[in-house]
Amino acid sequence: MKTDTPRPILLKEYRPPSYLIYAVDLDVALHASRTRVRARLKIKRNPAHAGNPGPLRLDGEALELESVRLDGRQLGPREYQVSDKELVIAGVPAEPFTLETTSYCNPEANKALTGLYLSRGIYCTQCEAQGFRRITYFLDRPDVLATYTTRIEADRGEASVLLANGDPVERGTLDGGRRHYAVWRDPHPKPSYLFALVGGNLASYASDFTTASGRKVDLRIFVEPGKEDRCAWAMDSLKRAMRWDEERFGREYDLDVFNIVAVSDFNMGAMENKGLNIFNDALILASPETATDQSFASIERVIAHEYFHNWTGNRITCRDWFQLCLKEGLTVFRDQEFCADARFATVERIRDVRNLKATQFPEDAGPLAHPVRPSRYIEINNFYTATVYNKGAEVVRMLHTLLGRDGFRKGMDLYFERHDGRAATVEDFLACFEDATGRDLRQFMTWYSQAGTPELVCQFKWDQRTRTADLTIAQVLPPTPGEARKKPLHVPVRLGLIGADGRDLPLVLASGRQPVDGLIEVTKRTETFRFRDIPTRPVPSLLRGFSAPVNLTLGLSDADLQFLMANDSDLYNRWQAAQDYATRVLVETVKEKRAGRRPAKPTALVAALGVTVGNEDLDPGYRAQFMYLPSESDLARVIARDVDPTAIHAARQELRKAIGTGLYDMLSELYRRHEIKGPYSPAPEAAGRRALRNAALGYLTCRGKAEDLRRAAAHFANARNATDEVGALAVLAEVRSPERAKAFDRFYERWKDDHLVIDNWFAYQASSPLPSALATVTKLTRHPLFSIKNPNKVRALIGTFAMANPVNFNRPDGRGYEFLADRVLEIDAFNPQIAARLLSAFRSWKALEPERRRLAKKTLQRVAGAKPLSHDAFEIVGKMLE
Ligand SMILES: [Zn+2]
Repeated sequence: MKTDTPRPILLKEYRPPSYLIYAVDLDVALHASRTRVRARLKIKRNPAHAGNPGPLRLDGEALELESVRLDGRQLGPREYQVSDKELVIAGVPAEPFTLETTSYCNPEANKALTGLYLSRGIYCTQCEAQGFRRITYFLDRPDVLATYTTRIEADRGEASVLLANGDPVERGTLDGGRRHYAVWRDPHPKPSYLFALVGGNLASYASDFTTASGRKVDLRIFVEPGKEDRCAWAMDSLKRAMRWDEERFGREYDLDVFNIVAVSDFNMGAMENKGLNIFNDALILASPETATDQSFASIERVIAHEYFHNWTGNRITCRDWFQLCLKEGLTVFRDQEFCADARFATVERIRDVRNLKATQFPEDAGPLAHPVRPSRYIEINNFYTATVYNKGAEVVRMLHTLLGRDGFRKGMDLYFERHDGRAATVEDFLACFEDATGRDLRQFMTWYSQAGTPELVCQFKWDQRTRTADLTIAQVLPPTPGEARKKPLHVPVRLGLIGADGRDLPLVLASGRQPVDGLIEVTKRTETFRFRDIPTRPVPSLLRGFSAPVNLTLGLSDADLQFLMANDSDLYNRWQAAQDYATRVLVETVKEKRAGRRPAKPTALVAALGVTVGNEDLDPGYRAQFMYLPSESDLARVIARDVDPTAIHAARQELRKAIGTGLYDMLSELYRRHEIKGPYSPAPEAAGRRALRNAALGYLTCRGKAEDLRRAAAHFANARNATDEVGALAVLAEVRSPERAKAFDRFYERWKDDHLVIDNWFAYQASSPLPSALATVTKLTRHPLFSIKNPNKVRALIGTFAMANPVNFNRPDGRGYEFLADRVLEIDAFNPQIAARLLSAFRSWKALEPERRRLAKKTLQRVAGAKPLSHDAFEIVGKMLE
């Protein structure tokens, strides 16, 4: 716990390390409270570092140092200095030397879940970003790459499985068989954040994979004994990801084994440690009864994501933590492409954009705004953000759009060729695309350095006399903290002009050039594109496939939006038109309600939605997307100032009821017809049918009539898979009724012994719009199955309440804010990463109406004044109040 005022770290102050560690030999004796780590480090001066290297400074935290040896000689206490942050040795030789340290750490006491810790009796590690320094003294920065040999020793009864990075080289028994050891060697140089080690009594699910060049790889997923039968989907996903990376990017796996371990206490989703991925078990374990379609999809995505890091992140790593997007944005783009190929691409794109707008756009619009590549941080753990990950992926996608699939592949091939085995920067990455394709990407680079969501303000004019259409696009770049004036960006805009018959018109610019795939490139603050040979007034369809992460203002009429919903050849934009239309109606309703007027009936919108949702020619999963209205947070973001969460909730509920009533017969029929009789399959077709059916059930129930509740209760009772069971629970959670109480009780009795499934029980009580939600959530924090030390439980209960229940979190009395602040301070004492993440629920507080804003500010000031406060929480709350 730190109380001193921390100093920010700046990108422009980057210096290469003065020393390099190039080979690491670890010997770890596992013990719950006193694990011994002997490290033999081969160290040399860094030729890239100019001048006097100064003393050797190794990072080390929460370690107890026993001894230091330099080239075999034990150092006396005056020959080094050790503090709670580092080990400093002044007199090191100019020639390469060997440093040996022996130190101890305490896994059992480690509730920060970074470094070496125990999760339900399993020893595991999390080193990204700076956890390795809690295992041994080291140059704990990503530009120090070394080969590792790891020997682990433990009591057999305590840890029958011993794993580390790389390939297994030796194992044996000690102490008459009571203890045993294993030695692992990783020949690929890697930074310390990719180190991993696991020890525990684990069972495994095994398979194998033969790479394109014929290397046979043993694949294994390790889980708690008894859970092996829930690993098949993760294994299947892994093999498909391995094949996909060979086919799409020419990348093969490079070790003889690939191991995955699932643990239940984990700060993030998963970690890509070389050859030994460690996962939150929520992202591994799946069976039809325990995992929803959404979980199956997340598992597939995250398994692929971590696997893809083997090349984008591990073989080529980041020079420093400012370059985090280099591995994350790129790898998210790769996992999105994998999912688009494995599933229905448009639905995947809708899902990704929805997620971007829900998580990244508010970040960009509030006090936490930062560029995809930040230029300063206090605590790097605060920068594992939607901006770095999701906007980072959009930037890579724009590169793909601008260069085309082949040009992009050429650039990637050059990147792998040029930087394999090294630590790279964003500049290095873009240089590969420039060199491979001859394109000038200097202006494009601004996407990495400039924060904020650009707005494209468009005007479209058709001239009957000249048969031309002018599209004028102005880039409006709103200021963000610390960046008042912005540079114009290089924006790819995909578009179509749709004629009265519903077909795309041929696109010909005044110059005679025909934009390939409807792609134009906007580079100036204001720019006009003239299209010729347009005989009748067309409806423009802009930003097809969401070709850039921007807000778009075009001023289409309701009739134009209905036309696009019915006719756009770009299925993404059909959906976008429906969202824009619904947003317009909802924002207007909120305005009218707050002014004390009665809003107009949404009859035309309901009818237009009915046409699409009822269109049996369209994929069910795609139609389900039309039924998910803009969320309350989406609406708050669009309204942007003087936000009243109560009015937004009421407006959205009314529209839901209007849809449920207006389309009752159609939805009942759809619900009836899309039932799946056969066995469960996680395939996208089946998942799409269930999604459509569960969405219909939601609308049919929100009227709250007795027969509707009976239908939902029957859906719950007859469910034969988790998707239907949890789906019905979610629907019932919204309406106070005896059926609701009964369903929650039954769900609890059925799943109380399953620590993953029961998280749904916590989450759907936490997201309930009923006024009792805060009292319920407060009570549940004392429930025996809840643990404030377990991040999954904290996310399910407290995280869901703060992030996914705007009407109750933003209660007019401010008690939602107070509740969150109390939990944040409680958690900050042992797990600052999770505490800081929860605090970001306040990221849009400045947009609230005055009274809530006052209450939120008061709460944030209380957090800011608390002592002690971690660097993580200090940085977030400081920015919030700036
Ligand atoms: Zn990642």
